[in-house]
Amino acid sequence: MFLPTTREEMNRLGWDRLDVILVTGDAYIDSPFIGVAVIGKVLLDAGYRVGIIAQPETETGDDIARLGEPLLFWGVTGGSIDSMVANRTAAGKRRRTDDYTPGGINNRRPDRAVLVYANLIRSRWKKTCPIVLGGIEASLRRIAHYDFWSDRVRRSILFDAKADYLLYGMADRSVLELAGALAAGADPRIVRGLCYASREMPGRAVELPPFEAAAGDRTAFTEMFHLFYRNTDPVTAGILAQKQDDRYLVQNPSPLLLSTAELDHVHDLDYERSAHPHYLRQGEIRALETIRFSIATHRGCYGECNFCAISVHQGRTVRWRSRESILREAERIVAHPEFKGTIHDVGGPTANMYAIECSRKERKGSCASRRCLYPKVCPKMGVDHGAQIELLRDLRRIKGVRKVVVASGIRYDMILADRTNGVNYLRELIRHHVSGQMKVAPEHSEKKVLTLMGKPGSETLLAFRELFQRLNEREGRRQYLTYYMIAAHPGCTREDMVRLRRFCSDSLRLLPRQVQVFTPTPSTYSTLMYWTGRDPFSGEPCFVEQSVAGREEQKQVLTRHGGGTKKEAAGTFPRKKRSVRPRGHRGER
Ligand code: SF4
Repeated sequence: MFLPTTREEMNRLGWDRLDVILVTGDAYIDSPFIGVAVIGKVLLDAGYRVGIIAQPETETGDDIARLGEPLLFWGVTGGSIDSMVANRTAAGKRRRTDDYTPGGINNRRPDRAVLVYANLIRSRWKKTCPIVLGGIEASLRRIAHYDFWSDRVRRSILFDAKADYLLYGMADRSVLELAGALAAGADPRIVRGLCYASREMPGRAVELPPFEAAAGDRTAFTEMFHLFYRNTDPVTAGILAQKQDDRYLVQNPSPLLLSTAELDHVHDLDYERSAHPHYLRQGEIRALETIRFSIATHRGCYGECNFCAISVHQGRTVRWRSRESILREAERIVAHPEFKGTIHDVGGPTANMYAIECSRKERKGSCASRRCLYPKVCPKMGVDHGAQIELLRDLRRIKGVRKVVVASGIRYDMILADRTNGVNYLRELIRHHVSGQMKVAPEHSEKKVLTLMGKPGSETLLAFRELFQRLNEREGRRQYLTYYMIAAHPGCTREDMVRLRRFCSDSLRLLPRQVQVFTPTPSTYSTLMYWTGRDPFSGEPCFVEQSVAGREEQKQVLTRHGGGTKKEAAGTFPRKKRSVRPRGHRGER
């Protein structure tokens, strides 16, 4: 069932009042890929009456009032993407399109949606029940953070929104604990994964540099971020406290990770896999097509790329579903009247981390001084793709499934590190699960830039490319690799982009089309580098291209026909004419 979005829908369920109202910046898509739908269904499953107000208009406040006032709390999220990222390009221009809005036109999500919605509720009901922030926008802005769009360090979004609580990370466990505490009239401030404001600093808390210091001093900001990052593992995290004005922002330790059985239960709940008819009538919602017949197999990522916030939001420990639960979901997909035979994706933040995790980490937490995949794959990870091969085979055997695609990103360094099943897994992908092209994300070629990104060196990419081509030839296929690159990452100069172009031309024999200008999103190490102009691990200064023109120019160096200047182009490329399409891989471009 869809959660009610109007009074009439509440009446049909026989509900005169709701316990919880969720407000979101996306159209209401009832899918296990949409956080607000998952939270709603988890609460519903526990017996709470939950309604959703999606993309409310913000002028009159009529939309926000249409379900009345909840008994327990308001849950507010900006949607599946931080509203500033959703609304603005890396150059600061307003985006025209929005994949989570009917018709695809970006006209329904306000900038800083979490603040706008919380203020909308507060202006309508001065003394309402608690307002609880959640979702990616709130999660990554939970402590003092650098905000690219205003070019300054901002306070916790909890303080700016005048909300009562904030649930960070994957909140399906903590939201139940919070609802239980509020329903029982108990103090919810012991709930893991919760942030709140306090006049006092809690006893055992680790104190972060105060907001004033972090905002005004880049060394203090760096110290704050290191402390924050080290306290994101649920096994080892302590309580954090940061003084902001005359109060403390208190962050309780991360929520405990769900067990396989609990994760299975969340995914086995009744999702419509569609947008609510009210939104569907208004036009096509592009995101729905991507997620409708896809399956999430796991959560978390131990890749720890420095520009990515997943480790701060979902965590560095991968938790996965049982094969049985995934197969049950595939059977439900097959039974869907609009299913045409293709499962569009089977994966997670990184596709090939399913069922691979370090047992030491599960017992003792992430290592403080090492990373799991960088600079090399840690042997303790025990990488073996065997379980994934079995899962994919089982999915292919389901009657009604014609094709199973693995569209989520692949860590090719893990494939190379798997001496038992790495080649078997890649062969399986090439034979059955790649639709002409496989996406990989080397992001750059230059060692110093890759080091700042926390990504493996280009020799690993070339080794993988060679293996990919060899297997393709053996299989008689013409699949190709698509490379994702980043321009203007901290540490990257224009000359580095010229060298990247030369690497692509000489070694990859193509110029990538998927080139993104680095956007400093909140709470990543790369954003810390952007703001401080330093490598936070060595303390050394690093070049940062901050001008809009310079950042765009870096991208152009790689994408522009003929490369940078004429002189550079002449010096960069061999004079003899060379095809960008190697034999046997004509599509690789
Ligand atoms: S031992 Fe290796 S794989 Fe395990 S948590 Fe530490 S770095 Fe990661």
